Amino acid sequence: MATRFIRGGNHLNGRRKRLLGMIATKRSLTGVLNPDEQDNRSLWNKIRNMDLYEAHRISRRIVEFAQEHGASIIVFEHLGRFRPVKGNYSKRANVKRAYWLRGKIFHNTKYKAWEYGMITSRVNPKDTSRKCAGCNSWVARYGENDPPEGYRPGAPLFARPVCGSKGNADLNGVRNIAKKFLARYAA
Ligand SMILES: [Zn+2]
Repeated sequence: MATRFIRGGNHLNGRRKRLLGMIATKRSLTGVLNPDEQDNRSLWNKIRNMDLYEAHRISRRIVEFAQEHGASIIVFEHLGRFRPVKGNYSKRANVKRAYWLRGKIFHNTKYKAWEYGMITSRVNPKDTSRKCAGCNSWVARYGENDPPEGYRPGAPLFARPVCGSKGNADLNGVRNIAKKFLARYAA
């Protein structure tokens, strides 16, 4: 019926990563037990406030959108286990914060939805991004300027070799989430 993308994720990730990089630099210069720790505390507060603000903003947008379209249920996918990544401190810490934020967005959405008389549900995330929501075949996932082949997690586009159509990878993902939820109640 309707689609809305809530933007700002890349911007937030970039800002957070820079702040985490500043913390890492200060740590390496001063050692963890230095009184300069206070400085890092203010950086941490900044990151925390940024994330809390976004969790609030995004969950509010989701609930408003659902309400505008007369929805009664908002479906998410389960987060799954946290998988740490390799890389420097700011990269690893950033991925961890982003994971935490996704959980927080669900939590906030659940409470806000309840106030509007809507409920939330979660489905198994397995293959929601990897399969075509139309024909259930494996998809290719790739960037704007790449050939439509392979699978790069997080890339914006997808193509379905079997049924031939192409589109936005996130949109295909949410369609699979909806399908899983509906399949649960199919007679
Ligand atoms: Zn298909």
